[in-house]
Amino acid sequence: MRRREFLRKSILYGSAAVFAPTLLEGCISGQQKEPAHVHHSTHSGKMQLSWFSYELELRHTFTVAGFSRKVTPGVQVRIEYEGCTGHGEASLPPYLGYTVEGTMAFLQKVDLSQFQSPFLLEDIMDYLDTIEEAQTPAKAAIDIALHDLVGQLSGQPLYALLGVNPDKVLSTSYTIGIDTPDVVREKTRECAGMFNVLKVKVGYDGDEQMVRTVREVTDLPLVVDANQGWTDRQKALDKIFWLHEQGVQMVEQPLPKHRLDDSAWLTQHSPVPVYADESVQRLRDLPGLKGAFHGINIKLMKSTGIREAVKMIHYARTEGMQVMLGCMTETSCAVTAAASLSPLADFADLDGNLLISNDLYEGVGLCDGRLCLPDRPGLGLKEL
Ligand code: MG
Repeated sequence: MRRREFLRKSILYGSAAVFAPTLLEGCISGQQKEPAHVHHSTHSGKMQLSWFSYELELRHTFTVAGFSRKVTPGVQVRIEYEGCTGHGEASLPPYLGYTVEGTMAFLQKVDLSQFQSPFLLEDIMDYLDTIEEAQTPAKAAIDIALHDLVGQLSGQPLYALLGVNPDKVLSTSYTIGIDTPDVVREKTRECAGMFNVLKVKVGYDGDEQMVRTVREVTDLPLVVDANQGWTDRQKALDKIFWLHEQGVQMVEQPLPKHRLDDSAWLTQHSPVPVYADESVQRLRDLPGLKGAFHGINIKLMKSTGIREAVKMIHYARTEGMQVMLGCMTETSCAVTAAASLSPLADFADLDGNLLISNDLYEGVGLCDGRLCLPDRPGLGLKEL
């Protein structure tokens, strides 16, 4: 009898020991230091919104067709509720057209006190759209923080809340930016053993040299992103056929974003899938893209976060379109959020956290080139 009693207690304590730390780890508000210059919402209520600007420092100067830069401005967002803190962020690369000031001004207007709980995700996201039409990164920041919070409160990782299988998380591509052949060779050599697919930035006169240089070093599958850099559709098609021979599996945004008729022609003739990136922002853009692309690149900073990204994935699937998940330069916060959706996608281009030198969190990892998700509640972030 004593033995039975011992076993019963062990099982009880055992389950408590598994369950309690899970919840405690998820709700880390008591452990964190508040950074200087934190702004708090003037609205009171059960959910407390705060934010601070945080500039992301890039490991290498980042060049794509059209521009290059060394930092990415951003705003980190936190929502506190019942002892838990949800983390979110707005990444603001200049080409998106949003600023730190505009993002903070938007956050200042957000009044979460009217909502009883963070579980009212649909209502809260609808409300954000009534405040201002644009400001998609600020909305994404709140959406991500709410999902993190809801996961912590439920004691479940985000992937479990989304109902996706963490074993089906994709490999991420790693981006080789436009550079001199020596630098391209060196960067490719550095990362070839760590990733299963590389993304090469093209869309300018040196395209072929760029791809040949990468091919000197590795025979990994490649995807390419022209960032609207090609203008002649026939020349673009000729290039795509050549790239196909080089083992390129997909091409992203070959033509300027509004040239949908030419994109449709290219999509009809291309030997590899053609994806929209700059041509797509939110769910409402998708009906207009039918036939113009094989697939869409969904980025949380454009889609207003996870909630709408899921809707975009389902819409794309009903139209027979493929899906990739992309990101900006972001900390592991937003990249972990996007990675949690990757079991629903065909390609993942989620290397934004690997491109910066001042990440704030440990989150999604890399396991033999595949993304691997933390199994802690919410986003499962640990502050660095
Ligand atoms: Mg792109």
